[in-house]
Amino acid sequence: MDENKGYIEMGMRSSAKDIAKELFYRLGICGSLLRVSCICKNPGFFILVYHRTCASGSGRPYMATPADIFEQHMKFIKDNFKIVSMTEGLKNIYERKEKNICVSVNLDDGYMDNYLYAYPVLKKYKVPATIFLTTDYIGKNQVFWWDRVFNTVSSDEHATDRINARLRTEKESEIQRIIKEMEDKSPLLKKAQPSMMLGWEEIRKMKEDGINFGSHTKTHRNLCLLNDEEVEEELEGSKNTIEENLGAGDMEFSYPFGIYDERIKSLAKKAGFGYARAGFKGFNHKDADRFALASICAGPNLKTSFLANRISLSAFKTC
Ligand SMILES: [Zn+2]
Repeated sequence: MDENKGYIEMGMRSSAKDIAKELFYRLGICGSLLRVSCICKNPGFFILVYHRTCASGSGRPYMATPADIFEQHMKFIKDNFKIVSMTEGLKNIYERKEKNICVSVNLDDGYMDNYLYAYPVLKKYKVPATIFLTTDYIGKNQVFWWDRVFNTVSSDEHATDRINARLRTEKESEIQRIIKEMEDKSPLLKKAQPSMMLGWEEIRKMKEDGINFGSHTKTHRNLCLLNDEEVEEELEGSKNTIEENLGAGDMEFSYPFGIYDERIKSLAKKAGFGYARAGFKGFNHKDADRFALASICAGPNLKTSFLANRISLSAFKTC
């Protein structure tokens, strides 16, 4: 009984929060916060991060943004900010060249659904996004452990987020052991289906249309749990694979799970990357660390008004 009351209260709290967010947007408070943040500091640069994308209205895979929501987001940022590539965004903040707030779009992991559902929208709105590839899985069918967790908790995204936040700090062998135990306790659940990852053919086609590609390591493990030699293999191995297939470029990097420390930062510099995106929230200004760039997770199924809130609050908090 008490437990039910708790859930009802939680539901009421979250709907009150949602109403407040909608009001925030409709009353123009988001715009005011952005203006204040621009007065405090130079306009700055933010990075909007997505993972998977999927067909509109379908049952969403974990962390997948439906194509119609993705399009609404792209239209919103096109109408309100200057959309740039990562390289241009960094140049603007360090050389203080741009008077407008700049935004770059990133998609992590390298799922095939990025080609099917995000690419047509990126092309339509001329967004020079960067897709960060997990290079050992290019062109393969892959089951990432977080997709297996999603299945064991009956596709509850928030529950999966909480479990994954804990699991990502464990070594790979321990993650596999824990998930196997979870799956054994839920024998009626279907096994997670393998997901197709982008192949070189799709990657090259998107590159011709201005999409950029960076490294997200070879196997997407938490780098802080690996020794130097293993980290170097993850960094240099993935960088070499991309260079061999696409030629030398700006060498963009995104830390798996956004997790890094000083040791990983210096190994990323040593591997020859030009910058690295981290997982903490915020805007980047002229004092931003090129190897620990802040970002904003777009949220897989976020209304545009909620996205506007998230962006303006991030700008205000980092000013
Ligand atoms: Zn990732």
